[in-house]
Amino acid sequence: MTDSLLAPYAVSDDNSRGRAAAEPAPASRSEFQRDRDRVIHCTAFRRLEYKTQVFVNHEGDLFRTRLTHSIEVAQIARSLARALKLNEDLVEAISLSHDLGHTPFGHAGQDALNDCMKDSGGFEHNLQSLRIVDVLEERYAEFDGLNLTFETREGILKHCSLKNAALLGDVGQRFLDKTQPSLEAQLCNLADAVAYNNHDVDDGLRAGLITFEQLQQVEAFSRHSAALQTQYPGLAGRRLIHETVRRMINDFALDLIEQTRQNILVAGVETIADVRAAQPLVAFSVAMREELLQLQRFLRENLYWHYQVLREMSKAKRTITELFDAFTSDVRLLPPKFQQRAREDKARAIADYIAGMTDRYAMKEHQRLFAIG
Ligand code: MG
Repeated sequence: MTDSLLAPYAVSDDNSRGRAAAEPAPASRSEFQRDRDRVIHCTAFRRLEYKTQVFVNHEGDLFRTRLTHSIEVAQIARSLARALKLNEDLVEAISLSHDLGHTPFGHAGQDALNDCMKDSGGFEHNLQSLRIVDVLEERYAEFDGLNLTFETREGILKHCSLKNAALLGDVGQRFLDKTQPSLEAQLCNLADAVAYNNHDVDDGLRAGLITFEQLQQVEAFSRHSAALQTQYPGLAGRRLIHETVRRMINDFALDLIEQTRQNILVAGVETIADVRAAQPLVAFSVAMREELLQLQRFLRENLYWHYQVLREMSKAKRTITELFDAFTSDVRLLPPKFQQRAREDKARAIADYIAGMTDRYAMKEHQRLFAIG
């Protein structure tokens, strides 16, 4: 989208706060297209294909992975951004990079690594995503990381403790000042929630861990599935599920567009400085927010806490903890590059190594360290 089609309060190349290392403007792309392209070409992005979203990667080929999740978030975020005349390239760059810092095995992996790091500054996947694009990627002659724009980096850092914020400089400042990020960053946050809550319904049903009948407790689901069965008697199976989920996503999206337009109008926001000084403006209506929370609660109780999921998660935690302990007790077990980094900060180097692993790499590495023969 050219800048002339953007709302005055959108982020644009003109009002961007730029990159840490100054670079000439791109010849044929916007600054945020360049960010997106750098993310797509980086190593951490390719690893997302083999990282767990909810279901461990080897359980089936059709479940979401971090990669397909990130693509779904980008799709939803772009649609929302276009409707609101916000910067589509920026939301795409943020969406595709928002989960780069995830450990193997989803949230179980992150919890385990955070426990291992509790005396060494902790581990937080959000912060790790930023660390990857700021420091860890090794691709460019002139700088470490990807040297992304301030606005993409700000969008990646969804939340962060005040202690960490104080260490982060420019992108940490808003947590200290209690100001808001761009509308694009706010939007990606909610696009993420729309994506995962809805695709987890689909994946949970596919896995047979939750049922169509159970989902009738969820208002958004029961409303649409009932309407569909009236409209198309006999519609069943995957087609009914997909139609229901797609209508749910559509409802959340339309509601968010409408409510956000109203919020912007009421707040009288005209510039990006106004956006930063206002309350969060990208939002669902109260009723829709309640529906999303209800869906979230349902998934937590019935899917994420399903005993079969918890068993996988407990194995995952053990694997991560054992890897961490093995490397901590003898750093010579690390590959040379990480041994070198461990001389500066042992725990952080080990956390970086483990966080970068795909699910299957972590399982293999665990075998290499613990299985004889
Ligand atoms: Mg996500």
